[in-house]
Amino acid sequence: MVELTEAEEERALRLHREALVVDTHCDTIMQLMPPRERDAPPPRRLGERSDRGHIDLPRLLEGGVDCQTFAIYTGRQENQPWALRTALQMVDVFERECADNEGLVHALSYDEILAASREGRVAALLSIEGAEPLMGDLGLLRVFHKLGVRMLSLTWNWRTPFADGVSASRAESKLTDLGVEALREMERLGIVYDVSHLSDSCFGDVADVKEGPFIASHSNCRAVCDHPRNLTDDMIKALADHGGVMGMNFAPAFVDREKATVERLVDHIDHIVDLVGADHVGLGSDFDGIRSTPEGLEDASKMPNITRELVRRGYPDDDIEKVLGRNFLRVFKEVMR
Ligand SMILES: [Zn+2]
Repeated sequence: MVELTEAEEERALRLHREALVVDTHCDTIMQLMPPRERDAPPPRRLGERSDRGHIDLPRLLEGGVDCQTFAIYTGRQENQPWALRTALQMVDVFERECADNEGLVHALSYDEILAASREGRVAALLSIEGAEPLMGDLGLLRVFHKLGVRMLSLTWNWRTPFADGVSASRAESKLTDLGVEALREMERLGIVYDVSHLSDSCFGDVADVKEGPFIASHSNCRAVCDHPRNLTDDMIKALADHGGVMGMNFAPAFVDREKATVERLVDHIDHIVDLVGADHVGLGSDFDGIRSTPEGLEDASKMPNITRELVRRGYPDDDIEKVLGRNFLRVFKEVMR
């Protein structure tokens, strides 16, 4: 990290404290689940500061994170019934953590996110990453909405009954009819549509058929770091045309092929701002879903380093607040009616 002047440091810390900071993706629930192997270490608890992993409540508070999305990810299980069972167990673990921790609220709407933030509590959003637990059944989509899921991606890297993921893509594949139906049902229910992990051609199909904004909760720029999980400039423009937002992913392989640092992550933000302006970029750390982290972003407590780097590069206050969370909040307000 390059040193800031005292005035810059003060400005960065003030901005970070005053902004509503939103992170749209982490895999922390996986680390809270009872371990499968008998000799594995006990699961972490969100209320206790751990030296394992990246996110717990003390580290979120230290990092000034106001709204954290927690993903339900069940792995490559396709239509296996245990994907549903695992997802329901993850909802249970998540709800118990919210009940046991005064500082954490399961937020169901934009207003509940703002209310939690006013009370100095972390608003926790529940998402599904990869639609395997739905088993191709829109009834289960409605049930998960009742359970408080407010963000969903139709695939992880593989194929689901709805669409193709980035590792399963046929060059011209599109959403299935059921995938389009799911998209309409998500619009009706007020679930944020997440295109991270979707194949390029399915992304194009979403951009064609989707009304209103969609997000890429944890994807970077392919022009800055060539990886299929990152978005091309054309995809970024299509997302921006819809009023969408993409959350910057800290996975080193998506940040830089040689050496991932907080500075290189902010290069992705620069690229998006140059391409489509400051209204379409946010943060989607992928913490606890990644094995290593960029230098300067070792866990959630290090989030202010992004603000420091934006200040150092001369971003105006308004743009910094947008990147830290206001852009995603705009989409949440529009979608989670
Ligand atoms: Zn992911």
